[in-house]
Amino acid sequence: MLKVYNTLSRKKEDFKELNKGEITMYSCGPTVYNYAHIGNLRTYVFMDLLRRVLQYDGYKLKGVMNITDVGHLTSDGDEGEDKMDKRAKETGKTPKEIADFYTNIFMTDLAKLNIGLPETIAKATEHIDDMIQYVQRLVEAGFAYETSDGVYFDISKFPKYGELSRLNLDEQIAGARVEVNSEKRNPQDFAVWKKADPNHIQQWPSPWGMGYPGWHIECSAMSQKYLGEVFDIHTGGVDHIPVHHENEIAQNEALTGKKSVDYWMHGEFMLVDNGKMSKSLGNTYTIAQLEQMGYSPMVFRYFCLNAHYRKKLNFTFEGMDAAKVSYERLCGILRSHSYGLALVDQDTLNEFKQEFDNAINDDINIPMALGVLWKMTKLPLCSDVYKLALQMDKVLGLSLDKAEEYIKKNGTDVPDEVVALAEERLLAKQQKDWTKADELRGKIKEMGYSVLDSKEGYELKKL
Ligand code: AMP
Ligand code: ZN
Repeated sequence: MLKVYNTLSRKKEDFKELNKGEITMYSCGPTVYNYAHIGNLRTYVFMDLLRRVLQYDGYKLKGVMNITDVGHLTSDGDEGEDKMDKRAKETGKTPKEIADFYTNIFMTDLAKLNIGLPETIAKATEHIDDMIQYVQRLVEAGFAYETSDGVYFDISKFPKYGELSRLNLDEQIAGARVEVNSEKRNPQDFAVWKKADPNHIQQWPSPWGMGYPGWHIECSAMSQKYLGEVFDIHTGGVDHIPVHHENEIAQNEALTGKKSVDYWMHGEFMLVDNGKMSKSLGNTYTIAQLEQMGYSPMVFRYFCLNAHYRKKLNFTFEGMDAAKVSYERLCGILRSHSYGLALVDQDTLNEFKQEFDNAINDDINIPMALGVLWKMTKLPLCSDVYKLALQMDKVLGLSLDKAEEYIKKNGTDVPDEVVALAEERLLAKQQKDWTKADELRGKIKEMGYSVLDSKEGYELKKL
């Protein structure tokens, strides 16, 4: 039975889908005015792991992810510059050129990280009419009102506002920036449509004149269009809880009077050197940069898989080095299993599978599942172990079917036979068979290598 942590209830809940066997899921996508950094990508690794667990459990997925190719503003409030507009003006390119360029790179990054694409990818610019209609319905129902610079959602009409973030209105007002917009009825009212001044590049005709949609309306309009008024799961990063998702809920539920999403799931942040990751601090990295430094995308994915999605993950190069060694070793030992002739009985393998399934179904506990896989690799070298590992990899997405290729391409240039002996020696050591371990060390030496014990297992050096 799958259990997931629901931000709405702050509890792990038994998962029950709305329509038997099919899951409707919306994931907040990127704003494509710049490269996605590794923090952003951690959130999509989480989305992918969740999708893979659901698929592994036999569900059919109907997933939607948006691409925000209209600028939302530099602050979560309704002030500041439009990010897309700013970038376009800085570079002399059109917003579409900027958006297409970064969308392509984002898609390539997802592919490199084995992140499966949701079934529908929805670009904001292709759904402006849906958003305008949504705003119109809000205005007609009395939930939104026009001012001289836009259309705002009146949160006093939605008493449940704040339920997701568990902040009451006073707390939210206390945290709000100094108001410059005196036409708003309540300080926390947010823009669903902004009127554009003439030099704003992206603008569309609307019943309120030329303008552009608010960021939150984008996700409400597109999720409801593709998934209906009520759907199963909504994902995003934890930073979306207090404003973006709170506003989505207000927009959705004001109109329908229904609870729009059953399970809100949020991925925790990635930090760098225990602090915030930000472009201005110069501590963000892209997948391409990591590749240039010699870390393959799979090493980054492995690094992410070592932390539960609800835990902060601190990015360090020491951590990446350790992930690299571990990933390489995992590939190495699985390759040895793929050639292994030992017999492992089916009951033992079933127990490992059961343990693995329990871990992934316990709120997507991937670190624990990875632990089960590692434990399984300690079995005598057997091709059935490799086969089961490949089944597990349907969830992990670590390209373990390409273990051999990875080792050939990225591994040390130590011959396969020597690595196999070193793996066997490690196993012997773990089983406290010191005589065998020494024997194997001798054999490795005869082949011209020394084996040193290390934190990650062993290191092989040419003599
Ligand atoms: P954005 O393009 O800014 O809308 O962000 C795309 C996604 O990345 C959103 O789901 C954010 O919640 C998420 N995100 C932003 N920064 C980080 C971070 N440091 N760690 C994890 N996720 C993040
Ligand atoms: Zn969103």
